[in-house]
Amino acid sequence: MSANKKLLFLPGDGIGPEVMDQVRRVIDGMAKTRSVNFDITDGLVGGACYDKHGCAVTDETMSDAMNVDAVVLGAVGGPKWDNVERQHRPEAGLLRLRKDMDLYANLRPAIVFDSLLDASTLKPEIVQGLDILILRELTAGVYFGEPRGIETLPDGTRRGLDTQVYTEAEIDRIVRLSFELAAKRDSRVTSVEKANVMESGVFWRQVATNVHKDYPAIALSHMYADNCAMQLVRNPKQFDVIVTDNLFGDILSDCAAMLTGSLGMLPSASLGEADESGRRRAMYEPVHGSAPDIAGQAKANPLATILSFAMCLRYSFDMKEDAEVLERAVENVLNAGLRTADIMSPGMTQVTTDGMGKAVVTELDKLAG
Ligand code: NAD
Repeated sequence: MSANKKLLFLPGDGIGPEVMDQVRRVIDGMAKTRSVNFDITDGLVGGACYDKHGCAVTDETMSDAMNVDAVVLGAVGGPKWDNVERQHRPEAGLLRLRKDMDLYANLRPAIVFDSLLDASTLKPEIVQGLDILILRELTAGVYFGEPRGIETLPDGTRRGLDTQVYTEAEIDRIVRLSFELAAKRDSRVTSVEKANVMESGVFWRQVATNVHKDYPAIALSHMYADNCAMQLVRNPKQFDVIVTDNLFGDILSDCAAMLTGSLGMLPSASLGEADESGRRRAMYEPVHGSAPDIAGQAKANPLATILSFAMCLRYSFDMKEDAEVLERAVENVLNAGLRTADIMSPGMTQVTTDGMGKAVVTELDKLAG
């Protein structure tokens, strides 16, 4: 297959540029072995952008982000920018990208590779073979609802408030996406809210049930968020796709991520609305941050970012086969005993960031041959 697809690369800060270099290596490898070509534009985001332009992302970069097929981001932030004004802090660049691109759906897979079973704090039999997907609504709910603030009441006492609010359209589109994603997996969706104590939860459940009428082939179940947290650590393999709101998704996706035990292995995707041609704005990034404690030491694990790129192949370009080959290459490298420092265990071979990237490309070559 031959195609030129447009990517915006935003390496960011700390280990961001180091792990993104390994994605470039993978793309170069794929161009050779699988005739897949990408046009890559580079941009600055986070502290790197602030140092050069005085803001966390420029209008030009935003315009590039709106016009490419997908954005791939490393990580932002670090102590160097801790005292920068809030609106120019590194995270402000990330938030603007998510908001202006209307990336309402955050996909967080939690997959346990057999060779990293020991990294989980849970018993191997609980997590072996785990492959679940948490879909979190990202642009509405209590993090954005009005009114919000800290106010002084007439009697002089103070209170803080946030508002959980969801429109029907906001619930409809995220739940719809969960059914579409489940159709490509094990066809099961668990919709999570607190319908027992929250009106917005009752409404979420009603809308999810309505949308489900359009997807009869998918099995839908409903679960309260507190029970879901418990079930995730009791028996996580019962789930296929979990769809939930912004707040519960924030918590449950971190909980699910840690079932795998290794931050350096966790990819993510954030997707926007599909246009008439089916194209969605999209951003792919590892779950981890800029890891300033190990930046510049060749210790960063690039696999989360490489696996985020595999998600990009799958969700932005419908290149399921190429995504699977890349994921298999990662798995084979782990099975061969190669480890970066963060996932190192006795008897394994420790490699640098570059070493891991090179090993994945060598594996891609082998799989092609
Ligand atoms: P972090 O994810 O950067 O690091 C947490 C720990 O995990 C550190 O010990 C780090 O060395 C390790 N780690 C993380 N990724 C790794 C990798 N790929 N390979 C090996 N080890 C890895 O979280 P933090 O320390 O809380 O935050 C550091 C900075 O990153 C802060 O400025 C924070 O705001 C920012 N941050 C950015 C994002 C993002 O860009 N999406 C997400 C989280 C944190």
